[in-house]
Amino acid sequence: MKPTQEKPPLPTVSHPTICPYCSLGCGFYLELEEGKAAGIRYMPEHPVNEGSLCPKGNTVLEVLNHPDRLKYPMKKTENGWERIEWEAALELAAAKLKGSLEKSGPASLAFLGSAKCSNEENYIFQKIARLLGTNNVDNCARLCHASTLTGLGKTLGTGAMTNPISDLASSECIFVIGSNFAENHPPVSRQVLRAKEKGALVIVADPRITPTSWLADLALRLEPGTDIALLNGMMHVIVSEGLWDREFVRERTRGFSELEQNLQRYDPETVSNITGIPSADIIKAARAYARAGTAAIVYSMGITQHVSGTDNVTACADLALICGHIGKKGTGILPLRGQNNVQGACDMGALAEFYPGYGKVGDPDAAGRMQSLWGAKKLPESPGLTATEMLEAAGEGKIKALYVMGEDPVNSNPDSSQVKKALEKLDFLVVQDIFMTDTAEHADLVLPAASFAEKEGSFTSTERRVQWVEPALLPPGEARADLEILFRLAKNLGLDFPCRDAGEVLEEITAAVPAYGGMTKERLKKDFGLIWPCPYPGHPGTPVLHTNSFRTLDGLARIVPVEHRSPAETPGPEYPFLLTTGRTVLHYNAGSMSRRSKSLLKKEPELYVEINPADARTMEIREGNKLLLETRRGKTEVIARLTERVGQGVLFLPFHFPGTNALTAGSLDREAKIPEFKVSACRIRRD
Ligand code: SF4
Repeated sequence: MKPTQEKPPLPTVSHPTICPYCSLGCGFYLELEEGKAAGIRYMPEHPVNEGSLCPKGNTVLEVLNHPDRLKYPMKKTENGWERIEWEAALELAAAKLKGSLEKSGPASLAFLGSAKCSNEENYIFQKIARLLGTNNVDNCARLCHASTLTGLGKTLGTGAMTNPISDLASSECIFVIGSNFAENHPPVSRQVLRAKEKGALVIVADPRITPTSWLADLALRLEPGTDIALLNGMMHVIVSEGLWDREFVRERTRGFSELEQNLQRYDPETVSNITGIPSADIIKAARAYARAGTAAIVYSMGITQHVSGTDNVTACADLALICGHIGKKGTGILPLRGQNNVQGACDMGALAEFYPGYGKVGDPDAAGRMQSLWGAKKLPESPGLTATEMLEAAGEGKIKALYVMGEDPVNSNPDSSQVKKALEKLDFLVVQDIFMTDTAEHADLVLPAASFAEKEGSFTSTERRVQWVEPALLPPGEARADLEILFRLAKNLGLDFPCRDAGEVLEEITAAVPAYGGMTKERLKKDFGLIWPCPYPGHPGTPVLHTNSFRTLDGLARIVPVEHRSPAETPGPEYPFLLTTGRTVLHYNAGSMSRRSKSLLKKEPELYVEINPADARTMEIREGNKLLLETRRGKTEVIARLTERVGQGVLFLPFHFPGTNALTAGSLDREAKIPEFKVSACRIRRD
């Protein structure tokens, strides 16, 4: 393969870019000296982070310049990894995919896209999968916010954040549930503090006491997995005290009477028994949220990663709808998503059940539109396998060839010992990434990819802001932009793509995804991008959704009653602790990038478990003791950290280190098929 960029000289000073870690899309400048990234300069004019970066953003150069970056394509042989030429690598990948296709049919192929890759890369990735005849294409949104798509999709018609983050500064009440944004999305705190300065009341519902709880005027420490009971309990108070917005409910929604009926069982005393929250606090929270002139709900994976994830999100939407807190500045529902392009990867159709722009697989009109855009005779008609299902199918021998772009399912999927077994059963695994991940170690072929700073393309943040990045640096060795690799692969597969670069792919995206219809590379490069929907050229973008109508057939939102139900696994005599998992400020996702930052590792070097001091006393555990945690899936060694942040009987593990997901279960939400990372039954062994 020829060098990637036979392009104009690279910039030599400050180069604007966006952070490759979380979904906030914080902006900063890379300081370039002689073609190398030598430093970071803050970008105070950026509307989301206003200059600040969290520890991950601040240390991004350590990852970018890391000596472990993959530099050459490599093939696994009897003697270990051997370097091969790009052409040979891509011919091998294409031959293996075509071989499986001919021998076992398109259902034997699976493609795991990446919420770390650009919109253009994910768009082309899913297009390759679908033109090969399979909808077995997905991305890691399945593991973090698939339930946002299903829950907000069925109530509001659009499975995305309703208001920009800056709107929080205009809220009179902010209800945070299942989100520790002070650690995981730190710039959000600034908007919340601005609201507090103006007198806003902040309510934080979380099983743990976190830095976000420190911002709370009212902290509700609920039992893990009881969010629906709390939300229904609040709605019970609001309805029984007549605090709901009659006009909004009458004119803009359907389904209130069914909800009213359902809420009868959720009086504050009953809800207090389920959640562990004093009934007076439930009443106080309900009154504060309903009576506020503007109120917003902020949630994260504490809501989504449950077997009831879709229902949890639905209950959040119901609460906002009955109070009319939606469609205006300072209101709305703000799901804070995970990776930097998790919203975009979904918008681009890297999902088993949706085409680009959320046309449903199985809907003949949606399929027809994509067929005519792509010049395809026929596209596969039934939804494909999701990120977790494709691994399960690989374990059963049904998936023969798997293409993984920029993800590490060994560490990010639940039940990692099963994931490893499944990968070993594949006839062919190809992994395209910037580092040799634990998943890549199982591959037959590894393709070195360019990082965010070495390629061009667009990324969509959690607030639907689409921003364009330009390459600042050359990739190391023979690493290439994911898009370039995909174009070359497509050619080897006999697929004829008219686009030649990311700008041209964006042009095709504007035809495939109506919400991106008015976007061009030039527009996205200016003024920190555009917030979708931006349906036609010249459209300014749409920071606040649902101002006049919802994206349903009749324009009305649906209020959908949901019931509390227990998690798939609850503690008992054999496994007495409730184990929950989550993020910390110093690491990111499965840790493939953040665990390569020396500064971050120095501060947080290993896997630890938070345990309540009272439980520790009973088990004679001291701070720093080595423990063995065990669930029905596996065992993991951890270091004990004694803290009141977790309640008695609860253990917390960050999921950034190998080992955490050896413990978690593969129980899935029925609709979103998101795993229940937040609740497992666990026991502790002393070494
Ligand atoms: S990780 Fe998120 S909050 Fe931190 S700098 Fe990057 S985008 Fe901003």
